[in-house]
Amino acid sequence: MTPALDPAACLATAWQATPDLPLRALIALGLVALAGWAGGLRAFPGQRALVALALVMAAWIGLSVSEHAAVAPACKATFGLASWAVIAAQPLLYALFVHQHRHGELQHGAWRSRLLLALPSAVLVMLALANGWHGLFYGDDSTLSEPIAGLPRLLYDYEPLFVVMIAVNYAWMALATWTVWQGYAEAQGAQRRHWAGFMLMSLLPLAANMAYLGFGVRLMGVDPTSVAFAAMVLGFAWLIRRERLFEAAPLARRLLFEELPDPVLVLDAEGRVTEANAAALRLQPAPPLDRPLPDWPRFGAALAATRDEAVALLELADPPAWYELQRRELRLHGRQVGALLQLHDVSERHLAHTETQRTLAAREADLDKATALQALLREQAMHDPLTGLLNRRALAERHGHETAAPDAPLSLVLLDLDHFKRINDSHGHATGDAVLRDFAAALRSGLRAGDTLFRVGGEEFALLLPGATPAQATARVQALREIVARWRLAQLPEPVTFSAGIAGHGPATATLEALLAAADDALYAAKRGGRNRTEIKA
Ligand code: GH3
Ligand code: MG
Ligand code: MG
Repeated sequence: MTPALDPAACLATAWQATPDLPLRALIALGLVALAGWAGGLRAFPGQRALVALALVMAAWIGLSVSEHAAVAPACKATFGLASWAVIAAQPLLYALFVHQHRHGELQHGAWRSRLLLALPSAVLVMLALANGWHGLFYGDDSTLSEPIAGLPRLLYDYEPLFVVMIAVNYAWMALATWTVWQGYAEAQGAQRRHWAGFMLMSLLPLAANMAYLGFGVRLMGVDPTSVAFAAMVLGFAWLIRRERLFEAAPLARRLLFEELPDPVLVLDAEGRVTEANAAALRLQPAPPLDRPLPDWPRFGAALAATRDEAVALLELADPPAWYELQRRELRLHGRQVGALLQLHDVSERHLAHTETQRTLAAREADLDKATALQALLREQAMHDPLTGLLNRRALAERHGHETAAPDAPLSLVLLDLDHFKRINDSHGHATGDAVLRDFAAALRSGLRAGDTLFRVGGEEFALLLPGATPAQATARVQALREIVARWRLAQLPEPVTFSAGIAGHGPATATLEALLAAADDALYAAKRGGRNRTEIKA
């Protein structure tokens, strides 16, 4: 016969007592009680998956007991096929439980893509339920056996889909076992013992199933896998109950992750965002989990651009904010499995820094302005506005500077325009000013490097001649006298002359006052001597 789903056959069949019924019923009830107990424990990661696993296993035992208790082969086949709905769910729930127990519960958005993983099992269950139409799960050689342990059994004729189903289930079992192994490898201390216990428990159903399929080992005449699974779940629950510490640690980690004020993102090896804590979701509402970083509108592109830097400054707009980004590679056994991105809000620090920079720049500009003003004032303080020549104050400074070198000769000449009052009187004060300006320009045109001209009074000028003796100064003044004679000062028709008095720097004229007084004496002598001449202080 080809096993097919036939509920009507179960309504018509006779039922027989099976020797394993009390034990199986006890296990099923035990599993239901276990589900209730595990559900009532203080929360632990994977709790709902474990409760579902216990209930599904109780259902499996119920269905398998019914299969044996039914007399009609068609009804046996009906229960046998229906069992696959729960048999296939088992390794899925088992893998989900250990995954969550290790990594914490999945976030909301991460569920959708994970559900796709269950698709192969779901399709295979559909195909098993539809076996009556195709016979590709159990073939038409399925037949009632000689009684085993007093009861006839339906011996199934395994076809390819059955093998695929077993393979898929084994793949999930292997994945779950691998996860347990990883949990063990990562854990420390009490957690390590806990995972070692898990490891041991998880080997039970695997061993039982292999023994049944490979060597025909039976427990009271039936497949021992379900009992082994029940023992495993009981073991898990007992281990969780015993290890309070363990149940707290993953929760604490998740809580910390969720409530950290810094936004944190976890990327997988392909750069997709697989987790984001509450702070990250506040930055980026309605996040598309399981999508590549650049798909995150507000900061994804900026984050992705900082790929290779361990620490980078991230600037966000709308509203403006600054984050310090810390990127850490996540490695497991030397292989990169993803990255952890942690953002630290440094907006306040950044703004304060910018403000300080701005203030500093403004201060610097103020200082520059003040310095320039000071230089201008100094310049003005040293100059005569009418002729642009240095003034008396500048003479004092320059004199101090020149007399610092003790042995070099130094001469001072005082020059005074002759009868200047007359020019003012006959041509006006403005022309007098023009004469003063031209006189200064004429003298300046005849100066040598190192000589300095000052205006020290109304129409009185001073010449400081470093390196010149009074005799050399006399020759210099004579040359200037000729230049002035050639210039027509202020376009005046009459010549403008000057008198000059020279004094040399020496012990008796060590100070500027003494030197000026000596030159003034000589100047006075020149005036008295008839003007337009030069005298040296004896
Ligand atoms: P001396 O040959 O004896 O020096 O005769 P002087 O007329 O040049 O001398 P005095 O000291 O009698 O007159 C100097 C005049 O210079 C008096 C003053 O009005 C004039 N004076 C002084 N400063 C200025 C100035 O800045 N501009 C003009 N236009 N005249 C000035
Ligand atoms: Mg004078
Ligand atoms: Mg004069």
